[in-house]
Amino acid sequence: MSVWHDVVGQPEAVATLSDPTAMTHAWLITGPPGSGRSNAAYAFAASLLCDDNGCGTCPHCRQVAARTHPDLAYLATERVIISIDEVRALVQKAYFSPSVSTYRVIVIEDADRMAERTSNVLLKALEEPPERTVWILCAPSEADLLPTIRSRVRSVRLRVPSIDTVATLLTQRHGISHDDARQAARLAQSHIGMAQRLALSPEAALRRAETVDLITGVTGVHDAVMAAARLLDIATADANALTKERDELELGQARASVGLGPDDPVPANMRTFFKSLEEQQKRRATRSLRDGIDRILVDVMSVYRDVLIQQLVESSRDHGDALINLEHADGVRALAARRSPEQALAAIAAIEQARERIASNVAPVLALEAMLIQASRQ
Ligand SMILES: [Zn+2]
Repeated sequence: MSVWHDVVGQPEAVATLSDPTAMTHAWLITGPPGSGRSNAAYAFAASLLCDDNGCGTCPHCRQVAARTHPDLAYLATERVIISIDEVRALVQKAYFSPSVSTYRVIVIEDADRMAERTSNVLLKALEEPPERTVWILCAPSEADLLPTIRSRVRSVRLRVPSIDTVATLLTQRHGISHDDARQAARLAQSHIGMAQRLALSPEAALRRAETVDLITGVTGVHDAVMAAARLLDIATADANALTKERDELELGQARASVGLGPDDPVPANMRTFFKSLEEQQKRRATRSLRDGIDRILVDVMSVYRDVLIQQLVESSRDHGDALINLEHADGVRALAARRSPEQALAAIAAIEQARERIASNVAPVLALEAMLIQASRQ
C-alpha cells in the first residue's frame, strides 16, 4: 500500500508532495502537534527514495520506515534544542551523492528548535544546494523559522484532521469499532498519535480519565496541592509507558529492516548500529517526562475549555455534544457552576503559564501546584 495512504486528512499536502513537477530541493512541512508532520515527512522521503514513488512494501520503503535507509539522514525530537554540531553533521552528509537511490534525503523533525547561529549553518546548505539532495524541514508554523530559511523552502501546510477522519484511520488500522475510534479521536482533540494510544491502551485511557476527574474535583488549596502531586505521578507513568512502547516498536522495526527476527542474536557487524540506536533511545528518555506533563496539560486545558463552553452558552440547554470530555459531563457542569467565566479564563492562563515555566526548567511539581491553586482561587 502506498506510503501516502497513512497521511490522513491531508489531500492538498499529499497532492503537492507527490507532484513531480513541483519538485524542489528544500521543503517545509508545517502543522499543529498531532497533525502528522513527521509522518508526512517520512512518507515524502520514502516516495523519493523508492523506485516506485513510495510503494510502501519494497526494501527502500521499509528502510525509511525503520530510519535505516542509507540515503536518509534525519534529526528526530530528542532534545529541547538542536545543537550546531548536529546540523553541521547533516550538512556534511548533504554533500555526498546518493548511494543507492536517486536522491539523498535529509529530514529535520523540529526545525523550530534551532538557535539563530545553528539556522545559519543550515542556511548555507540551502543556498548552495548539492544536486540530488532534498531537505525536508518540519515545524509547527512558518513563523517558527528565520525569514532567511523560510524564503528558501517550499511550504506545505497540514491541517488538523477532523474527528471523523482520525476515527476512520483508527478503524482501518486497528479494526476498532467506529464508536470507540470516534471517542478516542474526540478525547485526543484529533491528535492522531494520542487518539491511537487512547484507543489501544486501556492504561493510557485510565490515566486521562483520572486527570480529568482530578481537575474537576479541585475545590481549594489543599486539593490543589494533592492533585498536583498526583498529576505528576500520572505524567511520569504516562511518559515511562510511552517511552517503552516507542523503544520496543523502533527496535522491532530496526531488526526487521536488517532481516533479524525478535529473538535472533545481533551479528558482530551490526552491533555498532544497534548500540547507537540504544544510545539515541536513552537520550530521548530524558525529554520524555517534560513531554508527558505537556500532554497532561493539554487534557487539563480541555477541561477548562469545556467549562467555558458550558458557561457561555445558555445554561438551560444541554451542550453535551459540544464537549470534548463528554464522559465527564457531570464533573464539568459542577465545575462550571462553581466558577465564573472570568475564573475559567484565569485558569486557562494559569495552565499556559505552567507550560512555559516547565519549559524553562521550573520544578514541575511547583509549577503544577501554582497552576491548580490559581485555578481554584475564589
Ligand atoms: Zn517502495
